[in-house]
Amino acid sequence: MSSSSSPSETSPVLVALDDISRKAQAIDNRTPNITTIVKQYFPEMPREPTQKSTIAFAFDIDGVLIKGKEPLPGASETLRELQKLNIPYIFLTNGGGLTEKDHAAKVSSRLGVDIDPDQFVQSHSPYHDLVPLYRNRRVLVIGGTGNQIREVAEAYGFNNVITASDLFVETESIHPFPEMTTEHHSVHGRRTPDLRTREIAAILVWSSPRDWCMDLQVTHDLLLSSGGMFDKISDMAGDVTLPNNGYFQDNQPKLYFCNPDFEWATQHPKPRFAQGAFRESLKGIWCYSTKGKAELEYTSIGKPTETTFVYGEKMLKRYHEKLCQAQKEEGSEGATAIRAVYMIGDNPESDIVGANSYKSRMGADWKSILVETGVYKAGTEPSHKPTYHAKNVAEAVRLALDEEGYNIKEDSNAEKCGNVEGYAHSKEGLNKENKEGHGNKKVNMHKKVDIRMPKHPNNNGGGRDNRVLQDRAKTPDSIEAMASHFGKLKLPIR
Ligand SMILES: [Mg+2]
Repeated sequence: MSSSSSPSETSPVLVALDDISRKAQAIDNRTPNITTIVKQYFPEMPREPTQKSTIAFAFDIDGVLIKGKEPLPGASETLRELQKLNIPYIFLTNGGGLTEKDHAAKVSSRLGVDIDPDQFVQSHSPYHDLVPLYRNRRVLVIGGTGNQIREVAEAYGFNNVITASDLFVETESIHPFPEMTTEHHSVHGRRTPDLRTREIAAILVWSSPRDWCMDLQVTHDLLLSSGGMFDKISDMAGDVTLPNNGYFQDNQPKLYFCNPDFEWATQHPKPRFAQGAFRESLKGIWCYSTKGKAELEYTSIGKPTETTFVYGEKMLKRYHEKLCQAQKEEGSEGATAIRAVYMIGDNPESDIVGANSYKSRMGADWKSILVETGVYKAGTEPSHKPTYHAKNVAEAVRLALDEEGYNIKEDSNAEKCGNVEGYAHSKEGLNKENKEGHGNKKVNMHKKVDIRMPKHPNNNGGGRDNRVLQDRAKTPDSIEAMASHFGKLKLPIR
């Protein structure tokens, strides 16, 4: 109980005692006020609940909801069930290459579920927070094909975007081996008349590079440039009398990566190189060319970095507020706080470690559930232990709802629309870490549900479910602010 709380905000018992003591004081003003005494001796006495809270979900996409281009069994039905329950969720993916709106529409059509772009957090979504810093400054975007990434960057609000193809169009000799890619660069590159008089302030690696040879070359050139000028080499680099041996001392562009994944699963039997592999290649070249005198300086976002989880949580909070507003307009009152977030993923090295290590800015408990439908192979020891294991996304969601005390009653008269295997809904089906067996059984995903107020297993009334959650959200952490922290992010090399 805070010292500023009025009795009406506290226990009914205190309210009654306060009333009695006021009446006693009216008769004899020497009688002390009982509330003052209680506050003195029990300063931490809890408040009565004033808010309802809910749980929420963050879903990885590839290997959890979709494989290749096809939805995984139970994925669509699970998301629809959460929508019925008004339980907020977001997608937290290291994929990208499109605007959130376009990517949400694409996934929406594959899953057959309505998705709000505000629910969609891609690897490069935190670049939104860089717009105020670089809105009218020149940025070089790397990755993707054609003008795809230029268009996404411009849609974000960056007003001066160039691509490696633009550099090629201005100076073909920048690329020593252009034979196989000239046509692409010539078609998509644009003339940039002020290329030699205007500095490049940042390099944003936005998607997996396609022409590694040229992309490595131009990025390396700019990191050794004078003031981010396209064709000026800094004479400070390598000067041992200067800090950091003269490297990154001449206003070179800032370098950002948005996906730490070293490889990704495709139709090919073995995983293929992803953006993290490009970064490691650049680090190797940088180490060689600087003779190991300076580390490559960069900022990395995307799962599992904290920056991306901060951004994801910000979007989850925003989406939850939208849901609450919609519920209010319909005349019902939704939960006003999120007490727990379940991250469901297939990759221990991004989804699981990211959720396990994240310290929520809004006071929620983040938990992780590792599923067996993607990168992780069932029966092996994951590199990072999840809070729970589940066979698939349907089982994972049911497990979380069960753990959080959501009392979902199946309507046996409900229309049967098809069974999904592996949707465990019994307590025995829980597969907590170190617990053997999945206890799966076939369950109709389309059964109507009767939702009761969640009652947490540990809640004996007025406990966790209805506790007052302090919103510890601060001004959203920006990736620029975190650049120094994550610049040295070490990731395993496989
Ligand atoms: Mg995945």
